[in-house]
Formats: sequence, C-alpha cells, structure tokens
Amino acid sequence: MSILPAEQMNASMDVDILIIGAGGCGLCAALAASESGLEVAVLERDSSALGTTSMSTGLIPGAGSELQRAADINDSAQTFAADINKKAAFNTNQNVVDKLAAESGCTIDWLVNQYQIPLTLVTGFTYPGHSVLRMHGMPGRSGQELMGALSQAVEDQQIPLVTDALVTDLYADDDKRVYGVRYKDPDGEFEVIGCRTLILACCGFAGNQDMVNEYIPEISKGEFFGHPGNKGDAIRWGLSLGAKTADMHAYQGHAGLAKGYGIPILWPIIMEGGIQLNKHGQRFSNESLGYSEQAVNVLQQPDAEAWTFYDERLHELMLDFTDYQHALEAGAIFQADTLEEICAQCKLDTDQVNKTLNELAQLAESGKEDEYGRQFSPDKLLQAPYRAVKVTGALFHTQGGLEVDEHARVVNDDEQPLPNLYAGGGAARGISGSGADGYIAGNGLLTATTLGRIAGQHAAQSIKQG
Ligand SMILES: Cc1cc2nc3c(=O)[nH]c(=O)nc-3n(C[C@H](O)[C@H](O)[C@H](O)COP(=O)(O)OP(=O)(O)OC[C@H]3O[C@@H](n4cnc5c(N)ncnc54)[C@H](O)[C@@H]3O)c2cc1C
Repeated sequence: MSILPAEQMNASMDVDILIIGAGGCGLCAALAASESGLEVAVLERDSSALGTTSMSTGLIPGAGSELQRAADINDSAQTFAADINKKAAFNTNQNVVDKLAAESGCTIDWLVNQYQIPLTLVTGFTYPGHSVLRMHGMPGRSGQELMGALSQAVEDQQIPLVTDALVTDLYADDDKRVYGVRYKDPDGEFEVIGCRTLILACCGFAGNQDMVNEYIPEISKGEFFGHPGNKGDAIRWGLSLGAKTADMHAYQGHAGLAKGYGIPILWPIIMEGGIQLNKHGQRFSNESLGYSEQAVNVLQQPDAEAWTFYDERLHELMLDFTDYQHALEAGAIFQADTLEEICAQCKLDTDQVNKTLNELAQLAESGKEDEYGRQFSPDKLLQAPYRAVKVTGALFHTQGGLEVDEHARVVNDDEQPLPNLYAGGGAARGISGSGADGYIAGNGLLTATTLGRIAGQHAAQSIKQG
C-alpha cells in the first residue's frame, strides 16, 4: 500500500471519478457522482460487492425523511445533531455532524424515490441515544438486502463496478494530487486506471489486527465480526499523502454476539427490558447505555461472556429481525417455562438470578435507578416463560479515520483539503468521539450513505466547475 510517483503512471483507461470500495459508501458515492453525467467507476477487492454493509442490519438514521413525516414523527436536523453530540460529548467535527444530520433525511428520500430502495421507518422501539424514531431499514432488516438493492441500482445506471480488484497503490504528485491507482487481480496481474478525483470508500482498519492492537487495545481480544477485507488501506494512503487522522480509538463494538454462533442479537432486546448477567447470575453494568460500550464490559466478565436474559414478550419483538431468526434456527436461544429450568439450562444460580429479578421489580416500583444508573419500567419487567442467549463482546468496525470537511474532502493537518481526494463511511473520521461510548446506533451507515452521497455530488461539482 504505497504512493507511487505520478510520472510513473501508465494507465490503460481513465475515468473522471474513481471510487475504491463497493460497500454502502462506495455505491452511494457512485450513484450520486454518476447523476452528473461524468464517467464513474468502482473498484472492489472482493468477488462481489458486500463489505461490512452486507453484514449489517442495514438500519440508516434519517432526520426529516418523508417516511418520518408520513408517520407523524416530529424530527429535525437540530434534534438529530443534538442526539449525536450528546452521545459523543461534542468530541466530533461539528461541521460534519451538522451537515450529516441535515442531509440524512434527504439521503433516505433519495434512496427511496430515485433508486426504489424499499426502506421503511422502523417503529416499535427507539434505539439508544435517539430521541425519536428515525431508523430506516429494508423489509427484512438486513444489510444483505440493502447491498442487493444498491448493487441493482448501480447496475441499472450502468456504472462500471470492477470486482476482484485489490487496489494496492495510488499515483500522486508532490502537491498530493492523485492521478490514478494500481490494482491487482486474483492472478497477480496489475492494472492501472487514471482518474481526475478519487473517493476512498474502503472502510476502516477493523480487519487489520496489528492496527487494532496499536490503536484500540481495549477491544483487541474481542471477537472480530466485521469485514476482513478492511485493512486500513485508506488510512495508510491518506497518512502517506499528509492527511490528518482523528479519533483512531473510536469503534463500534457490540455486546450481543451469540457466542460460538457469530450471530448478533440486536439491542431492542435490551432497550425493551432485557438484561445481561455474568456466569454468576449477576448484572455488571448499565446495559441500556449502548451496545457499543457494553462490549468491553462483557469482555471483562469471567470467560469474556454474558447471558442476555429476557422473556417471551421480547422474543416476539425480536422475531422481526433476520439475525434473530438465524440465532433461533442455529439453536443459540434457550427457552424454559420457569426460572429454575432456564437457570439449569444456562448453568446459572437460580437464587442469584431470582434475587436480581426481585431487585429490578423493587426498583421499577420505586422509580429509582439501579447502582449503574439504569431505570426499569414496571410494564417491562421480565416474566416467565424466559429466554436466554450466551453472548460475547465483539468489534464490528472502526470509527476513526481520515479527517474530512463537510464536503467529504480529505484534509491535511492544517485543515486544508487535499487537491482531489475524498473519503466517506469507515474510511473517514466518524462522528462518534474518541472511544466506544460515543457511537450512537446508525453512525456507521449514516457516514457510509450520506457522506458517500455528499462525496459523489461534491466531487462531480468540483470537476464540472473546473
Ligand atoms: C454486524 C454488524 C451490524 C451493523 N449494523 C449496522 C446498522 O444497522 N446501522 C449502521 O448504521 N451501521 C451498522 N453497522 C456498521 C456499518 O455496517 C458500517 O459502518 C458500514 O457498512 C461501513 O460502510 P463502508 O461502505 O464504509 O464499508 P464497507 O461496507 O465495509 O465497504 C468497504 C469495501 O471496501 C473494500 N475494500 C477494502 N480495501 C480495498 C482495497 N484496497 N481495494 C479495493 N477494495 C477494498 C472492501 O472489500 C469492502 O467491500 C453494522 C456493522 C456490523 C459488522
């Protein structure tokens, strides 16, 4: 992964806008850029366009979307920005936060109206940190569906997407202007393609254990449940070009990966009343603060595991999610009519769990918070029959990356944009502050879709304006 001198470049073809990475960010950038009529192409290392996006639940936040308005949800860019800032403690690039919050609803409308991506508003529960319902998802709530629909849209627009193309090097001059890239096919043959502008949409470094050890040691022992092809290439190229990086310790963790099954058990189960117990049947934290920061709490428990403990009501709620259906089919979910039976199945101390449940009932009745600051509602207390699933803490993707401005242009240490380099999605600095606890649900696909769209649009405008 290096920067080669521009004068050495011998391109077999040229495009106006070249995009590295065909995940959610790359495909949104490609669609937006191609609306200008300029020539666009996407290079993807894998044999099909999947990325982390296809592993995701595909839930995208959008404030002020038409779908929200139709459901009488009162939301605005300001409310969304306030939610992001509250979670990330204002430890972000405020220009980028404001721009993303302002454009998030338009991105949803654009995907639905322009490209017939069948997103709907997710109702029934509010994700941690969001003050209103603003998540939009595909019918089966899966990232695979999202990637399938985006790939179809790219194909319909006849945008060239070259797969099995691992980009290894960029060509640039001393002014940090990029002239093209070199990529390798599976036979080891190199191709060179020239461009007027380059968009880095090849995500972060979660698939690079050395970088994870260096930048985020706290999660390095967590299970990696992201896309293995994301090796931090954008960051390494950017650094070589003098780009600024920020929040390199930030990441999306998850405290609900079914242990031994590799299936995420999503957080509505907790937000609607579920709890996490360690192998001694004890709670150990405020699970409702968020799934990302809870990952480290789970990893600190004996055997780096916990039981997500819930009941039939929550089981019914979770049936909406494809991942949960997979966990059921795989046999990861325990079920029993009584507390004694479920504790026997999970090898938990019944007396201890019973004590915990009684304490929660008392707290709910008194309206007081527990010792970790969580409040329990009397109508959401757990009751027989019970369910449980053994989980561990995982790393999903990294949130630190190349600093960009509100147009998704990569900037240098003086905050000046590099001549023709953009980044979005996991390649760019996110809006989650500097650790795991600033990640509000949806930040991953917000920066992938909206920053990708902004990058594509701005790159095209800049070229057209000369
Ligand atoms: C289980 C799970 C659930 C999640 N659920 C959600 C959710 O519901 N909502 C949400 O907002 N976020 C969610 N996320 C996070 C979200 O999926 C990511 O933040 C987002 O998909 C990142 O998009 P991207 O386009 O930047 O990267 P990706 O989708 O990972 O795409 C990057 C692409 O670049 C390619 N690439 C990398 N290096 C090169 C190279 N050198 N040359 C060519 N190609 C290259 C990769 O192969 C990959 O296809 C979830 C993540 C996981 C793991």
